[in-house]
Amino acid sequence: MGVLRLSHVEIRVPDLELATAYYSEVLGLIETARESERVFFKCWDEHQHHSVVLKYAPSYGLDVMGFKVQDHADLDHFQERIEAAGIATKRFAAGELGPGSGETVRFEAPSGHTTDLVFGMSQVGNLLPLTNPPPEPQGLVGIHPPRIDHIFLMCEDVDAATAFFQDVLDFRLTEQILADDGHQLCTFLERTHTAHDLAFITGPNGAFHHVAFWMDDWNDLRRAADICSYHGVAIDAGPTRHGATRGWGLYFFDPAGNRNEVYTGGYWADPDREPITWTEGEMGRAVFYYEGQVNQRFLTVHS
Ligand code: CA
Ligand code: FE
Repeated sequence: MGVLRLSHVEIRVPDLELATAYYSEVLGLIETARESERVFFKCWDEHQHHSVVLKYAPSYGLDVMGFKVQDHADLDHFQERIEAAGIATKRFAAGELGPGSGETVRFEAPSGHTTDLVFGMSQVGNLLPLTNPPPEPQGLVGIHPPRIDHIFLMCEDVDAATAFFQDVLDFRLTEQILADDGHQLCTFLERTHTAHDLAFITGPNGAFHHVAFWMDDWNDLRRAADICSYHGVAIDAGPTRHGATRGWGLYFFDPAGNRNEVYTGGYWADPDREPITWTEGEMGRAVFYYEGQVNQRFLTVHS
């Protein structure tokens, strides 16, 4: 019961063809469907129809984030709780929001982000047989992460956004960066027993910081940096260590200016573990543990 994981992101791009070339050939995602103004992708090891949707728009940023719920009954359950929290919801039937889409409850989170809870997105299978599979398909190109991992967003009131995802959607807080006056500057929340599936940092409501894809180990981050450099993709930071989440990451930009991350490491987050707190003075180390400070682009706004 409840939210299973981050399901998908819908990202705005002003040049759909250029972005499609990047997401398929450099990032190495698999195209699963195409409309006149949207292209749908999945990571190779994902079974569901899509985890990234590119949408033609004059600006860049995040349009929608979707979380997959485990049971059909979760949709009614959460719709009631969201409405009880004073937030309006809309319901969409399977297929109504595009190819492969599941039944969806849509609402605007207190952080200003359009959020979908989804059940029953069509399953297309990963690229491996279910009997006697090899560890990886042949013929993958680019970075080819096996799956989407987490999304990192900005909002004005991190305390309120965090409380909503904890109290209404049953996310668990794993880490927080607290300002000296006690309010939350940054929070990390999970549903998958990993260090984070969703994070918020202080900034404008509705703004997008990055979407991250899982890699299996640190060497994959080195290979990803090689691939970015080979293709002339702008690297923002890393490969490096995050203090918060204890993970390793590499930040880079798609051709529209949306920040992508490939991420690995971190810890197993059992529901009984206590959240970790970073103090304001150690925020640099929480973000980039080796450098000890955020780089100048870290707080770039993507709305
Ligand atoms: Ca995660
Ligand atoms: Fe991240």
